[in-house]
Amino acid sequence: MALIAHDHRKSDLLDWVEYNSESLKKHNLFGTGTTGSLISEKLELNVHCFKSGPLGGDLQIGAAISENEIDMMIFFWDPLQAQPHDVDVKALLRISVLYNIPVAQNRSSADFMISSQLIDETYDRFIVDYSKRFSKNFQDQKE
Ligand code: PGA
Repeated sequence: MALIAHDHRKSDLLDWVEYNSESLKKHNLFGTGTTGSLISEKLELNVHCFKSGPLGGDLQIGAAISENEIDMMIFFWDPLQAQPHDVDVKALLRISVLYNIPVAQNRSSADFMISSQLIDETYDRFIVDYSKRFSKNFQDQKE
C-alpha cells in the first residue's frame, strides 16, 4: 500500500494511519520521502520510503504500481494549493486508474477502503487490455 500526503494534508494522514495502525501492520507500506519518514518515525511502522514527491517520489510510486509492487494507494493531495510537481501527481493518478488499483483521496474513502472485507483477501484485479486500442489507433493512423 502506498501512503502519500501533501504538506497541508500530512497531519490528517498521520492521524488516519495511527488510528488504523493495527490493520496497516499487515501490509507492505510504501511512501513518498517525507510522508513515509514521518509515518515510520512518529508511528513506528515499517515504511519503504521513495524520494520526496517533488523530487520524483510520485513517479517512483507510479512505476512500482506498473510493476505490480503496489496494489493500493492512499493519497491525500491538497485541493487548495498547486504543487510544483502537479504533472507528476496527474501521472500517478492516471497510472493508478490504468492499473485499476483502489485509491483513496480523502479520509472517508480511506475509511471505506480499510474497512472493506476485501482488504485482507487476495483480490484479482481486472486489468483492461488496452493493446487492441493501441493497434486500432495504429491502424487508423496508417489509413
Ligand atoms: P512528500 O511528497 O511525502 O515527500 O512530501 C508528497 C508529494 O508531494 O507527493
